[in-house]
Amino acid sequence: MNRVLPAEEPITRSVAYIKESGRRLGLRKEEIDAIIHPQETRIFRLSCKILGKAVTFSGVLCLHNNARGPYKGGIRIAPDVDIWETVELGRLMTLKTAVSDIEFGGGKTGIRVDWNYLYKLYDKKPQDREFEKIVSLDIVEYYAQIYRDLFSKHIYIPAPDMGTGPDEMAFIYNETMDPASVTGKPEGTHGWLPGRKESTGYGCACVTRISVERIMGKDISEVSVAIQGFGNVGSYVAKYLYESGAKIVGISDIFGGVYDEHGLDIEKLTEYSKRFGTVVGYEGKSISNAELLCLPVDVLIPAAAGNVIGVEEAKKLQTKLIVEAANVPITLEGMEILNEREIPVIPDIIANSGGVIASMEEYSHSLSALKTRREEVFKVLEEKLGQALDDSWDIADSEKIDLCQAAVDLAVKRVYQAMKNRRYI
Ligand code: GLU
Repeated sequence: MNRVLPAEEPITRSVAYIKESGRRLGLRKEEIDAIIHPQETRIFRLSCKILGKAVTFSGVLCLHNNARGPYKGGIRIAPDVDIWETVELGRLMTLKTAVSDIEFGGGKTGIRVDWNYLYKLYDKKPQDREFEKIVSLDIVEYYAQIYRDLFSKHIYIPAPDMGTGPDEMAFIYNETMDPASVTGKPEGTHGWLPGRKESTGYGCACVTRISVERIMGKDISEVSVAIQGFGNVGSYVAKYLYESGAKIVGISDIFGGVYDEHGLDIEKLTEYSKRFGTVVGYEGKSISNAELLCLPVDVLIPAAAGNVIGVEEAKKLQTKLIVEAANVPITLEGMEILNEREIPVIPDIIANSGGVIASMEEYSHSLSALKTRREEVFKVLEEKLGQALDDSWDIADSEKIDLCQAAVDLAVKRVYQAMKNRRYI
């Protein structure tokens, strides 16, 4: 249990930005603290019986803030989950839902799963996807049994995050039998939403296109792009940017990456990656993840793990713009260097908010039972993301601050107002 509970909360990027917003908006320290800290955090143990063996997992459920609507956020299954990471991710959800002005609050679940230990315990080869699926489905089933009431009453509405996907969400639905109790459900399941699976990647591609036009004065077809990550987010960002004519010169996954200065054929690369389980070995130059981050490109899109761009990386990057498809891919210290170097960053709380915006659509359609089409969902994404960017750029321009701080200002203002209205502070 103590591995998920280091003693003190580190000063995270969102904490630093919220403090600064609070100061700028003239809030009192207690008010700023009330926005920073979660309303409730639960640490739980899941005692599971998986494939005939008893195994125990630890996890964190962060109910960060529900002033603007039900706690909303994904379930992450990863080996490095700890309490403060889950809290940080819950806090990001509060900011994300506020910037895009959707009627949700913020929450998150993190379940710590040591895959290497499990491969050994079950005598499996590393990266055995079938085995991993059995384990994650079982874990989510146990987790859903414990927290069924929270979901059924729409107190906390989960969704996929790293390590989970539509299959796991179907298990939550099985437990509650309520289509509005969970989002990210698989195609064909009661209350599923066309476009939800692609939404984070589609949204990020929209944000990239709009930002390239505004910041560089160029069309997306005139720029080169490198993407770190080829999972559910990275692969769809690549697909939609490629379809808009962008030249994607580098892509990587956890095993490594490929580079082609003339541009990669994303359709072929997708086929290749489905067949071999990685982009490594695809035609082009093989590069490492560290090399991918430093490619000389117009746009860099980190779409995988958090904290991949620290001080050293920030000093070496050769990109002209960063779009944060992952949650917190740039550390607080990395951000300071990028600000000094005047490399603009489109923050995660806008760049990857397509997922939760689509979740809002899925939730409302699950409640009403009215069907919608993928094109309509994509239209909502474009409108909401365009608005979030415009509102944040207005603040950035008038206050002469960077876009990340401006987006947090906007979110903090909205969360504060709702907390005040409900006498939370
Ligand atoms: N896990 C996604 C995120 O970090 C989606 C959350 C949701 O739809 O609730 O934004």
